[in-house]
Order: sequence, then C-alpha cells, then structure tokens
Amino acid sequence: MSVSRRAFVTGGSLALSALWARHLHAFDGVLGRPLIQPDAEARALAAADTPFTLGVASGDPWADSLVIWTRLALDPTRGGGMPPGPVTVNWQVALDDKMSRVVKKGTAVATAEWAHSVHVEVTGLDPDRWYWYQFRTGDHLSPIGRTRTFPRPGAAATKLRFAFASCENYEVGYFNPYKEMAKEDLDLVFFLGDYLYEAAPIKDRPRLHVSPELTTLQDYRDRYAQYRTDPNLQQVHANFPWILTWDDHEVANNYAGLISQKNDPRDIFLARRAAAYHAYYEHMPLRRSSMPHDAYAQMYRSFQYGALASFFVLDTRQYRTDQPCDDGTKPLCEEALNPKATLMGDEQEKWLFNNLDRSRAGWNVIPQQVMLAPFDQGTPEEPRYSMDQWSGYPAARDRVMEFLGRRKPNNPVVLTGDIHSNWVNDLKTNFKDEKAPAVGTELVVTSITSGADGSDISARMKGLLTRNPHVKFQNSQRGYVSCEVTPAGLRADYKVVDKVTTENYTASTRASFRVTSGKPGAEQI
Ligand code: FE
Ligand code: CA
Repeated sequence: MSVSRRAFVTGGSLALSALWARHLHAFDGVLGRPLIQPDAEARALAAADTPFTLGVASGDPWADSLVIWTRLALDPTRGGGMPPGPVTVNWQVALDDKMSRVVKKGTAVATAEWAHSVHVEVTGLDPDRWYWYQFRTGDHLSPIGRTRTFPRPGAAATKLRFAFASCENYEVGYFNPYKEMAKEDLDLVFFLGDYLYEAAPIKDRPRLHVSPELTTLQDYRDRYAQYRTDPNLQQVHANFPWILTWDDHEVANNYAGLISQKNDPRDIFLARRAAAYHAYYEHMPLRRSSMPHDAYAQMYRSFQYGALASFFVLDTRQYRTDQPCDDGTKPLCEEALNPKATLMGDEQEKWLFNNLDRSRAGWNVIPQQVMLAPFDQGTPEEPRYSMDQWSGYPAARDRVMEFLGRRKPNNPVVLTGDIHSNWVNDLKTNFKDEKAPAVGTELVVTSITSGADGSDISARMKGLLTRNPHVKFQNSQRGYVSCEVTPAGLRADYKVVDKVTTENYTASTRASFRVTSGKPGAEQI
C-alpha cells in the first residue's frame, strides 16, 4: 500500500521513479510549493524525509461523509520536529486503490496548535461503498488508505463485518493481534478505550515507552506518536475506518470525571485532562464535533448502518461520579448503593434511552468501556465486585437493565473492553435469579497487549464462574473479536494469539458465539 517517495527512490528503479513522478503530478494537477508556508519552512520540509511517518486513518463513517486523517511529523517522538508555521496539505479521495479515478479533492492547513494533524470531513460521498484516499505536502505523498461509507439510514443492508478491540500497551508487547486484524475482510473497526497507557516507562519489557508519566501536552503527543509508528497499528488504520471511544488510560488510570485516582487538586487534574483530550483528538480520525474545548469533548455519538444496525457509542469516563468505597474490588459499601451514582451522567443516559427507544434498526449495538454485567469475585458469605466497572454503580446499571427489559429495543448487544480478558455475558434485570431471562447480550473483548501473553481460563476463574451463571465464556489471552451481522443473527469470533512478548506468534479462533435475532443471549457454536 505504501507509495512513499522514499520507498520508490531507494528502490532504485527508474521505472518506479517515473511512475511516482506521474502519480505525484496526477495528484492534483499542480506541482509546486504549498501556498502559505514561509520559504524557510518550505525548504526545510522539501529537503527532509517524508513527514508522513504516522500513516493515515479514517473514521466516523456516515452514508455520505467520513473523516480522513493524517499528522505531519518529521521527528514523531520528540515534539514532531515540524517547522512552527502552518503547512498546506492536499488530499484526494478516489474510487480505486491506484488513486486514478479521483472523486473528491481539496486542501487543508496543518497547524502547530494541533500538532500538524489533518482532519478532513469529506462530504458528498455515495453510500455503502469503498473509497481510497491520500495526502500530499510539497513533493511528499502519504500512504494510501482505504475506507468506506455506511448504507443510508433505513436502507436495506444484508451484512456488516466489524472487529472490536481495546487496551493496547505498546511497552508490554508487539501488536500481533493487529497484524491478524489487518488481514481480515472488515467494513469497520471499533476501539473501546486504552489506546495508550500513561505510566512512566518500565525497563526490561519487549519495548520501551517514550516520555515520563504523561502529564503535559507534549508528553501525550510524543507517546501517541510512538504508538502510531507501529506498522501493524498503522496497517489496520489504513485498511478500515475506525470508530473510537476512550477509557481511563488516555488520561490517567481510573479517573472519574474531574477526580483523579490520586485525588490531585482539581485545577491540576483539569489541566492534565485538557492536555490529554487535546492530544487524543490530534491523533484520531474524529469529526469536528468531537474536537475538545479545554477539558471537555463530545465523544458519545451514534451511527446508523442502514436498517441493519445502529451504534450508540458511550463515554463512561468524562461524566461519571467517583468510584465508591475507595475503588478496588470489594463488597458493595453504602456509598455504592447511592441512586445518584452514575457512569454516563444524566444527559448521556437520557440520550441513550431516547435514541434506543426511537431506533428501528435490526440490531442496537452499544460500544462502551467497562463491563456491564456484574462479576462476583468473592465468596457466598461476602460477594466482592470491581468498583470501577458498572458493578460499582449498581443503580446506574439497573436503570439500563430495567430499560432494556421494559422498552425492548431490537437485539441489544453491548461491546465492552477494559478488563484485559474475553467474556460473553447474558444481560439481565436480575442477575441473582438464574432463571431470569436475558434482556440483552454483552460481548467483552480482551486486550491487544495489556497483561502480556496471558493464558486461557484459570482454575480460580473456573471456580468463580459457578458463582456467576450469566457468564458464558471467559479467556485471558490477547486478541480481538471479529463479528458478522445479518438481519438473522450476529456471529462473534474470539480471535486470540499465543504470544505478544515476541513478534513470532500463532493465531487461532478460541471460541465462536451466535446471537439469534429476537433471542437475547449468545450461544456457543
Ligand atoms: Fe486497559
Ligand atoms: Ca481501562
């Protein structure tokens, strides 16, 4: 896919160089300097290696528009190494992978304020079709990315293939699951949070993080850039559009709203969250509507894939009340039972319920962060639950369960990350009643690397499953989940790899589940 200038030039082939020159000329019919760079900056850029070191990405697809993204960085992990002035970037969208049938093109300006990132909302596209896209600045061309629009809301759609993933820690392993994902035939990728980890580097791991513990804008930028230099991650971004949401580590472990785990002074944490949100937007293919304002950003949003599926992407970090009972895994204390406790905040909760109620889609899919079904890790005498998951906010969880049971939106399926292990759960209005019917299905994906190689189900976990009969499956290897949705059913393949601590690995499908339309709960196949 790469058509970088360097690849062609160092290839040493005259034929290829000529091909590149033709391609560059064809890019937008104009060879020459970007318009608004000061001369010194243009010269610096023209003489340098490619600034397209971080690849390309696309995301937030609708039927008629989507976002294409890149970021210019000559020295990605040390501030970007770009001249301070604005840089003009040309972009084009084509119907073919050779970029010969161009249907849309334009220019964008990359500024230092946004780390020379480029977010173009390409509009006027046809629904339900593949497109290819590419950027150019000066005489440097980006790799070519591939993306696709959704079918029109309400239009017949017979099939959708997507994968979902979460928790990529660059330091603890190689992104082998992404190497597998890149080979799949997918329409879309969901990412459910922990795109990076903020801790200080730890030695003697397979790779080493840049920056100290992330607190400043440059810290976050440099580490995002480090992640985006990973070739497997770049390839998955180049191959498919992504819809992303964030969890805690994009800012700091287990933060809740404006409260950090260490209870930092509010102003200190506000500044950190603002820096983190700013750098997040810079590196993700998000629409302008998700651009942060200081320490606030609109991340919960919905997407309609024809009449087949609607997606309600949640943000359970920005608006949540503090973890009760001083966080951790423990018996529910008095504070946990507070009916005002919330993970979504009032506005988002109303938005979700109103939209689910209005939805006519065959499948109502809710990509979100932390496990919705409770998991009792204690004993019959003393049940114990995670306070950072929905289990620490039982009133908020029960409002969701009660809504699903009473209003019965079509085929609710919740996609979850965070927990660094694979799960399949029945969602119920009463988890204590083994005979209570399921009102929805939760598919929980393991991490890409977090937790290192991992293992299949442990003896301890097997024992705990008998205390949690709504859990149908558990596995603690690394990987992702690949889904196929049709009007009749949703199939989920749990893809795992045996190793992420080395670049050599074996991939397999550990388990497959099917949710049949009209019948909440997944069955193993
Ligand atoms: Fe994580
Ligand atoms: Ca997390």
